[in-house]
Amino acid sequence: MVEPRVIAIVGGALSGPTAALKAREIDRTARIVILEQGAAVRYAVGGLAYSVSREVADLTAANRRQAQLVERVHHIEVRTRVRVERIDAESRQLVLDKERLRYDRLIFAAGAESIVPDVAGLETARNVFRFRTPADLKGISAALDRGARRVVILGGGYFGVEAADGFLRRKCRVTIVEREPRLLSRHSETIAAMAAEALQGAGATVLTGAAPASVMREGSQVTTVVLADGRRLKADLVVIAAGLRPRTDLLRAAGARLLPDGTVPIDEHAATSLPGVFACGVCVSVPHAPWGRPIWFAQAAMADKTAQVAGICAAGGDARLGAVLGTAILRAGDTTIARTGVTSTDAGPDAAVLHVTAPSHDEFFPGSEPIAIELTYQRSTGRVLGAELAGRAGVDKRIDVFATAVAGGLTVEQLAALDLAYAPPYSAVRDPVNVAGNAATTR
Ligand SMILES: Cc1cc2nc3c(=O)[nH]c(=O)nc-3n(C[C@H](O)[C@H](O)[C@H](O)COP(=O)(O)OP(=O)(O)OC[C@H]3O[C@@H](n4cnc5c(N)ncnc54)[C@H](O)[C@@H]3O)c2cc1C
Repeated sequence: MVEPRVIAIVGGALSGPTAALKAREIDRTARIVILEQGAAVRYAVGGLAYSVSREVADLTAANRRQAQLVERVHHIEVRTRVRVERIDAESRQLVLDKERLRYDRLIFAAGAESIVPDVAGLETARNVFRFRTPADLKGISAALDRGARRVVILGGGYFGVEAADGFLRRKCRVTIVEREPRLLSRHSETIAAMAAEALQGAGATVLTGAAPASVMREGSQVTTVVLADGRRLKADLVVIAAGLRPRTDLLRAAGARLLPDGTVPIDEHAATSLPGVFACGVCVSVPHAPWGRPIWFAQAAMADKTAQVAGICAAGGDARLGAVLGTAILRAGDTTIARTGVTSTDAGPDAAVLHVTAPSHDEFFPGSEPIAIELTYQRSTGRVLGAELAGRAGVDKRIDVFATAVAGGLTVEQLAALDLAYAPPYSAVRDPVNVAGNAATTR
């Protein structure tokens, strides 16, 4: 009898289980094993901030349902609290705590970990949390239930802003401490400033160009965060959102090629440089569509796509990664900000950046709000390269039209002429996307 193929997967958060499910679609008989060092699998970290705000009632139950589906319906072996210690690429074995697991194909989905600022006494305190796992959420929820209200968030990138939004909705007093001169350094100054204003409008204190230098503790609890300039921030709860580091040490030790930022580059089939080893999720870099060079986006949508390709290809099927644009969206108070493709912060010399504002829908209809648009396009060809948006309404649907335009290689003329849906509650006769295309065409 032919032994079933063994597909081993390191990491069981989002990408690992997605890859496993795709592999199962291709190979009905393979032994598929997910190895997860934590207690939970197939969990939705994207829901953390919305659990903090209580907009999501029970994230744990939703996670549990998802995990059961993987095991019971799709017959995937899920082993939690099992840490993979080493990859022996030569003999195709994983070294676990007390045993070895042979694999035919390996899918590496070990993700990324939070960077903890180097401040004595910070990491070991019991009211200091990362913002990454169900265990973090449990600790944060317990602290909030005990009455914690003064929240200091270290880091003002995507996760810091998202966390701030969640805590503000929970009526907490939020202070964001960001080392850079502004929040959201991957966004343009204008768009990032709109996010900062919205958070301040919702009651947050935003401290930029600031960094924690030390903490004051009472027993196991941090009571005060002391900044490098001497300012003191009282805290009941500290959240660490100061950046991520790809968790690729196992691959490095196994001899895989890594990039200087520590991510593992994958080809269009999600293969690494090691034979039989695929990788996916937020530990990989992917070829970015407009630039063509590998880039790291620690975003779920990208993690999902790389995971699908890794699962299919590891199981012997054929799939290729589509265009990766780094499309992302974020809620900051009453404002939504979003980006796709090349933006003003990374535009090359042949790129033009156009700033335009257009109403989300007809101004005579209630709820109309201006959308700030920064459109990036190639001067020589008029090809749309990317966009950044901010506004209180209608940002979500426009960013996806811009993303589609970039992926499809549309020009600004084609953007101006797009036949988009119109009725007063939803748009204007000339949609904001058309307005941007038109402004670029007639410039
Ligand atoms: C708070 C938050 C909000 C987010 N919101 C959004 C959003 O709105 N939109 C969006 O696009 N993206 C969002 N993201 C990004 C995205 O959802 C996550 O980064 C996603 O979790 C990536 O999943 P992953 O499986 O690739 O990696 P991870 O989530 O990092 O999971 C990797 C898993 O591997 C396990 N592991 C690591 N090493 C080992 C080992 N040696 N042995 C066994 N197991 C191991 C870890 O325990 C972990 O469970 C958010 C992320 C966070 C943290």
